[in-house]
Amino acid sequence: MVESESLLSSRPYHRQRLHLVLTAMRRFAEELRKSGFEVDYRREPTLRAGLKGHCDEFHPDTVVATEPNSAGVDKLLTGLDVTLIASDQFLCHRDVFREWAGERTQLRLEDFYRWQRTRLGYLMEDGEPIGGRWNYDEENREPPPRGGGTWVEPVQSRLDELDQEVLDELPDGVSGAQPVGWWATSRRAALSRLRHSVDEVLPEFGPYEDAMTKTNWHLAHSMLSPYLNLGLLLPDEVCQMVEDAYTEGRVPINSAEGFIRQVIGWREFVWGIYWLWPDQFDSNHLGNDQPLPPSWTGDADTDMACLDDTLHGVEERGWVHHIPRLMVLANIANLHGIDPSLVRDWMRNNFVDGADWVMGPNVMGMGMWADGGRMSTKPYVSGGAYINRMSDYCKDCRFDPKKRTGPDACPFTTLYWDFLDRNRSVLASNHRMARQFSTLDRLSDIDEVRARAAEVRAGIAAGTI
Ligand code: SF4
Repeated sequence: MVESESLLSSRPYHRQRLHLVLTAMRRFAEELRKSGFEVDYRREPTLRAGLKGHCDEFHPDTVVATEPNSAGVDKLLTGLDVTLIASDQFLCHRDVFREWAGERTQLRLEDFYRWQRTRLGYLMEDGEPIGGRWNYDEENREPPPRGGGTWVEPVQSRLDELDQEVLDELPDGVSGAQPVGWWATSRRAALSRLRHSVDEVLPEFGPYEDAMTKTNWHLAHSMLSPYLNLGLLLPDEVCQMVEDAYTEGRVPINSAEGFIRQVIGWREFVWGIYWLWPDQFDSNHLGNDQPLPPSWTGDADTDMACLDDTLHGVEERGWVHHIPRLMVLANIANLHGIDPSLVRDWMRNNFVDGADWVMGPNVMGMGMWADGGRMSTKPYVSGGAYINRMSDYCKDCRFDPKKRTGPDACPFTTLYWDFLDRNRSVLASNHRMARQFSTLDRLSDIDEVRARAAEVRAGIAAGTI
């Protein structure tokens, strides 16, 4: 096992991400030793140096590794004398995904998901989806309950000596709050969170999977993605436990199906796309060129209540759920015109479950539409109305989600119309956006919208909005 110093120091990772990855690695090495394995654990300037050091010292006949999760390390290892074996962190190998993609002109998540469910057999009976439907999205779009609701608390671990050792070694200036035990750093602790999530949390997941509330940061999200992405949990054991809970009547179908779709559908789809379309990673179809605003880099606060709470969540825990990521962060980033590669890297560095393969397709494809629609037929942008419907942020915000002009106009709403106006030449021919452009064309105050949008964008860039 190699801790690559250059990898760790080359990017401004969030403190809790560094803590999670390094502690999990060192704990795993300890566990292996306790079970009788001999572990060569190296801290080296690079992975290449670690491999060379190991070979020079031990002269192995062969070096065998699991296929890595990033294109960079994959390139490095295939250029060296290393035998790679398929990883069990994914159920659809990248070569199998490539075969599935074949000659299809468009890759649709829904097609991939149905294919995965059929071949893997989760929630299936006689070749048909249990319950007679492939998905229950219509039942899963509830806003938060009045007052924000009450939610089962996540499991928290006590930090031990190894946690402290890793934290003490982190360089000065690392961003992000100190960890308080939300993230498991061992297989055992990850398994305990899996059981807790399935038994206590998952029943409420479905209806509220897209809801946001200022009173609670986790709602009914499993928060298992860091463990799946690190290999502390495997996707088949997670899905099997959820299916069993459904079969035993402990979890309703809309929650079980919604969860399994995230794991065998979206997660594996994103993984396959990352390897299939390497050029997506650096795309910028809309030509966005703005730098990260000061509120994202910790140099200013923002008056936007939804964004403020989301940014604080990232700072405190290195995690917010998928809707703040997509409809708050990526949304305002695209509306404001931030360079998508900066958004991609910011998310990869700051989220505890971040990785190139996660953020490439999620940010460049879905969040920022930087790939020009290969992955999503239209950009996921919205004004304040969506956030107002799905959260309780707007009530206490100094802006009004319904207004697009004037000093109290919601920046999302103003910039939404301005985004359509600015990107008309690229987007107007998209038939899925015909309704939006027809509404835009009927706006009588478009000149005021443009003027207010210029003020909002200047304010965001200066850290005053
Ligand atoms: Fe966010 Fe706009 Fe609502 Fe304020 S009014 S919370 S900025 S969506």
